[in-house]
Amino acid sequence: MSKSLVVITGASSGIGEATARTLSAQGHPLLLLARRVDRLTALGLPNTLCRQVDVTDGAAVSAAIEEAEAQYGPVDCLVNNAGVMLLGLAHEQDPAEWKTMFDVNVMGLLNGIHAVLAKMKARQGGTVINISSIAGRKTFPNHAAYCGTKFAVHAITENIREEVADDNVRFITIAPGAVDTELLSHTTSDEIKAGYEEWKEGMGGVIAPQDIANAIDYAYQQPQHLCIREIVLAATRQQ
Ligand code: NDP
Repeated sequence: MSKSLVVITGASSGIGEATARTLSAQGHPLLLLARRVDRLTALGLPNTLCRQVDVTDGAAVSAAIEEAEAQYGPVDCLVNNAGVMLLGLAHEQDPAEWKTMFDVNVMGLLNGIHAVLAKMKARQGGTVINISSIAGRKTFPNHAAYCGTKFAVHAITENIREEVADDNVRFITIAPGAVDTELLSHTTSDEIKAGYEEWKEGMGGVIAPQDIANAIDYAYQQPQHLCIREIVLAATRQQ
């Protein structure tokens, strides 16, 4: 039987890239979205449409999804993974960074949901996997706005899960601890970045993007009547 279309946002690096490789190896056609489209096409995955889309542009997200559906059929799974982490102290940080995080991590995620949910309800099936964080369950130093976005991801996911459960649509939260990706590189304070690196070393290293891709794959591949509501995973030594 041919596999269904999966959409992955932020597939140009880290967790999204590993997830794209993993689900492609399972035979799924893919729609990959990110701003660095060259990194998407460089993956060279079969049956894959790569589109340069900023997830804060809801119309562009919807247009890319319509284009992919015309080619591969209905979206069966959306992995809302695109995200930014700009760490800073609340009294020092440029509010523009707070806005960027809420725009991408929260509004970008809602844009993806908006583009697929009515059709999943109508089809009585589908899965949305939202990538939150352990920073969506507890707070960390310098993380105020980032934690705010990820607490929001947990709340949005659980709220919509209840809303569409009767329609046989699954909403899943994946909450990773620290993962070895490019995420920290966009933080502007060298001091905060150095402290974060030290924290990672202190726990003897962090987990890999593939560890998260495996969790996403596990949750998604369960039968449709079974919803893994949340997976929290981190290095054993992470506090
Ligand atoms: P990366 O920085 O490696 O990947 C982030 C991805 O998001 C990139 O593909 C980037 O693509 C994309 N992205 C960022 N902004 C936008 C935008 N406006 N529009 C479209 N795509 C965008 O980090 P990770 O792989 O670690 O991050 C993936 C998710 O995992 C994030 O939601 C992050 O918060 C979460 N997470 C990560 C943890 C970690 O320790 N690494 C821990 C817990 C959660 P491009 O720049 O090409 O647009």
